[in-house]
Amino acid sequence: MEPEDEGHGRSPISRRMAETNAPHADELQRQWARVRARLREECGAQTFRAWLRTLTLVRRDGDAVVLSVGTKFIRDRVSAQFADRLRALWAGEAPGVTTVHVVLGQSGDAVELQDEPEAAGPGPVEGPETENFILDTNLSSGHVMSTPTVSSGLAGESLRGLSAPLDHRFTFDNFITGTPNELAFAAARRVAESETVPFNPLFLYGGVGLGKTHLMHAIAWHIRERHPQRRVLYLSAEKFMYQFIRALRFKDTVAFKELFRSVDVLMIDDVQFISGKDSTQDEFFHTFNALVDQNRQVVISADKSPNDLDGMEDRLKSRLGWGLVADIHPTDYELRLGILQSKAEDLAVPIPPKVLEFLAHKITSNVRELEGALIRISAHAQLVGREITLESTAESLKDLLKANDKRVTIEEIQKRVAAHFNIRVAEMHSARRSRAVARPRQIAMYLSKQLTQRSLPDIGRKFGGRDHTTVMHAVKKVDELRAADRHFDEDVDMLRRMLES
Ligand code: ADP
Ligand code: MG
Repeated sequence: MEPEDEGHGRSPISRRMAETNAPHADELQRQWARVRARLREECGAQTFRAWLRTLTLVRRDGDAVVLSVGTKFIRDRVSAQFADRLRALWAGEAPGVTTVHVVLGQSGDAVELQDEPEAAGPGPVEGPETENFILDTNLSSGHVMSTPTVSSGLAGESLRGLSAPLDHRFTFDNFITGTPNELAFAAARRVAESETVPFNPLFLYGGVGLGKTHLMHAIAWHIRERHPQRRVLYLSAEKFMYQFIRALRFKDTVAFKELFRSVDVLMIDDVQFISGKDSTQDEFFHTFNALVDQNRQVVISADKSPNDLDGMEDRLKSRLGWGLVADIHPTDYELRLGILQSKAEDLAVPIPPKVLEFLAHKITSNVRELEGALIRISAHAQLVGREITLESTAESLKDLLKANDKRVTIEEIQKRVAAHFNIRVAEMHSARRSRAVARPRQIAMYLSKQLTQRSLPDIGRKFGGRDHTTVMHAVKKVDELRAADRHFDEDVDMLRRMLES
């Protein structure tokens, strides 16, 4: 018997999503076909059959694509191992896609909501964001996945089930070290290898894409391997918050506390997400204290140092800074080149050293973008069947390179130029007109015009509130001097290259 109400039985949410996507369905399917083809090509038929063949396209949702698989086992594996590739391939096929959700289910319904029938019930406890936590448990690394759990709160929830999946590539062996990250790396290793608790907590912080999540996964892998009996719990601060809110909703906070306080190692990624969420912070503070009191290891990551975490209670900030605070600095050229060389080895296509050097110079933002660039040029080369050259690289990374160029700030330019001419940065804003400060200031204005996207009035404002005509004059003057004076020209050019690298 055909069930009459197929489609009508769906939740209003899934119906709405299906409708939103209807007009683009064909195009979306074509994009998906191309992504699949490329995946198969890259991974080989065997891997593809084992893990990826059953992936089904569910829908596009703004900048996210939702894919589904039939089993939790496959989903975890796909998320851990192929999330980055899927995201990169999708981004290449469908500009604007930044995330890929892999959810459980066969029908293409909005299954990730199925284990949350209460979503329509009592409102979120701490602001509207809570609704998203069902889906977005690890926004920063892009390994977004739903976490179907037993529907009656935490009862029966296992530690492994609660812990976010670990990316198999994020190991110590795969982590390249250099001056910017050696402290964080050494501290992470120490925590992973130590039989006792060397410092509590280990607090890792640094900008996006610099390897915080990588190091945390590496600690977890290492401990799981050496000491399988130790209970390691790794999750994002958002997921911690989601679990807590859920526990409140189900009046299940006792189970929550028991679970979180029973672990040997607790790792919370991106703790800045609980800034301003008072009751979650409270609970986190108590969990934290309970674990530290019992001499269990706590590892925290954040985008800022404990003191700089806005919206965080003072007592929590101070507590977070008690152990070892290790920052990961932005990458330098050597580290970027090292990372590129190591990642290039894993690619099917050889990449000339010149191209790696070029990328290390040009892509300075973070490691994630470096990886993205490598993947893009190798995919491009494979597709068109041509070898990789500097020209083809520049061509296929045009927008990425532009975005990286844009990232030089006026402040950096002022600092660099001031240092070069041995004057104080304050002179960039001062009213003094003596040649010794006026010329460097003009050069800094000129470089600001060349290297940033800022308008003339904008630039003027940054130089002590000067008029845009002053900036215009500076640009003209520097151009004239460059044409007339070879030494001057070389000087400016060197500054430009330093700022761009
Ligand atoms: P964060 O959590 O700090 O935002 P991630 O740990 O997610 O950054 O790192 C982003 C990507 O860059 C990951 O794929 C990671 O493996 C890679 N990565 C970062 N630092 C390094 C490094 N030092 N060596 C190798 N890979 C790195
Ligand atoms: Mg991260």
